[in-house]
Formats: sequence, structure tokens, C-alpha cells
Amino acid sequence: MSYFAGIDMGSTAIKIVIVDEADEMVGYSISPTGSHFHRNTLEALNSLLARTGIDRKEILYITSTGYGRKLFKEADETISEITANAIGARKTGKTHGTVRTIINIGGQDSKVILLDDDGHVENFVMNDRCAAGTGRFLEVVARNLEMEVDEMGECHLNSRGIPLSINSTCTVFAESEVISLLANGHGRGEIVAGIHYSIARRIVRLAKRIGVRDTVLFDGGAALNKGLVLALEDELMREVVVPDVPQITTAFGAALAAREAFIAEEANVHV
Ligand code: ADP
Repeated sequence: MSYFAGIDMGSTAIKIVIVDEADEMVGYSISPTGSHFHRNTLEALNSLLARTGIDRKEILYITSTGYGRKLFKEADETISEITANAIGARKTGKTHGTVRTIINIGGQDSKVILLDDDGHVENFVMNDRCAAGTGRFLEVVARNLEMEVDEMGECHLNSRGIPLSINSTCTVFAESEVISLLANGHGRGEIVAGIHYSIARRIVRLAKRIGVRDTVLFDGGAALNKGLVLALEDELMREVVVPDVPQITTAFGAALAAREAFIAEEANVHV
């Protein structure tokens, strides 16, 4: 059998997706990036191969993307995460309509990508300068509130209070604001909800620079947070599509690109 792999070396997590010749996903993995990018990626790939029973020789082409993409020398090509995200989101969101806007919130950046009718990237905006509006910001707040990042969504949805207004636009100041809200007796739910709305407002401001068109797909690890999804839908005033496993859209796109690149190279060899 022939397979193709997409590897997204993110700042927080390494995501790997394997697709077959029919572009169907046959396996994926998500593991922490850690400090040894190359070694950890190789280990993640080997354990995914073992788990899926696929031999390394059956992987005909590997495309790497993401923050650390150049560090994986075994890749046959590298592509930008904007391109990979666009390819993956378009196919992932297909059952909900034609995806024209992607909102991605990862560990260290957030971005909005606008696609044209053919699914090509028309424009994008990115925030990679400031932690506010990224997954890292959520991790900092979770630590202050003594909870895990994966508990924040439920905490927001179960909160009966009105989301508090968080005014600080910088992570460090927001951290002190959260601490003083706690000291003033506010509940964790209303603080978490306030944080989600503050991130959602930042993202919507970013998105409005290039415009928002339906269908909107929200992905990246932060899309697992149902409270953030709710806040984003409120601020955007429209529904967003969240994939079942929102972290792997970009790796999926890279795997689809790997198959395309392999076919193109084969065609060149046989001309
Ligand atoms: P990157 O591609 O930059 O490595 P990801 O797209 O994997 O980033 O997203 C990582 C972020 O996702 C983390 O910073 C965290 O805020 C968020 N996240 C990860 N897992 C969960 C979860 N189970 N629930 C809520 N948020 C999560």
C-alpha cells in the first residue's frame, strides 16, 4: 500500500496525519513538542507507524509544516502552515459548506485565513507577536485559576455569572487582573468567561482586517475549548464549524499536499 504523511511541528504539539491514496486519513497522532524537535518528531512518527501497522517504506512522501518544519530533515518538502491549514480545513469542513474563513488559535499564535472560491489563500492576518489571543494565554490563566486548560470550557459553560470584562491587552497585565479579580471575590467561571470573550474580541478585530465570509471553520488546539467557541460565535455573530479533532487540520492538509507533490514529481520523472 502507498501512504503519505503530513507533519505539523507546532510550538506546543507535534501533529502527524497519514493519508492513503484516496486522501482518506488512516491515522494521526498528537504529542508534546518538547525541546528536542527532531528526536520527538521521529519518535512520534515511529510510534504512529507501529500503531497503524504501516511500514516506513510505504510512506512515499512526507510534507512538514509548522513552526519547526525545517528541522525535520527526513521530510521531502516543507510548506507554510497557512497553505497546509487552508488545504486541510477545506476538506475537513466540506460537509458543512465551502470553507472561506479559517480562524486558528494555536499555542503561540493566532491567525485568520481567507480563502477564495477555489480554496486558495486569498489573504491572511497573523498575531505571533503577543501571547494575548493565543493558547499560551489560556494556559497562563488556567495556572492562575488552579485548573487545567481542558477544564476551562466546562467552567465557562457552567458559570451562572455574567462574563467579567477583562481589560488588559497584555498577558502579564491580564495575569495581575485575574489575580485581583480573585482577590475581590469573583468566581472562576465569570473570570474564565471574561477571558474567553477578551480573546474572542481580539480575534474578531484581527479577522475584520481582512473580512469574514461563511463558512467559518475554527481550528487549532484552542478550538477544543467550548467556552471559547461560544464567545467567538457571539462576537462574530455567526456560527463556526469546529472539526472533531481541531488540532490536526494543518497536519491533514500537509498530508494531502504530500500526495499531490508525490504525483507531480512522478509525472515529471515519466515525461
Ligand atoms: P501549536 O500548533 O502551536 O503547537 P495547537 O494548535 O496544538 O498549537 O494548540 C495548542 C493550544 O491548544 C494550547 O496552548 C492550549 O491552550 C490549547 N489546548 C490544547 N488541548 C486543549 C484541551 N484539551 N482543551 C482546551 N484547550 C486545549
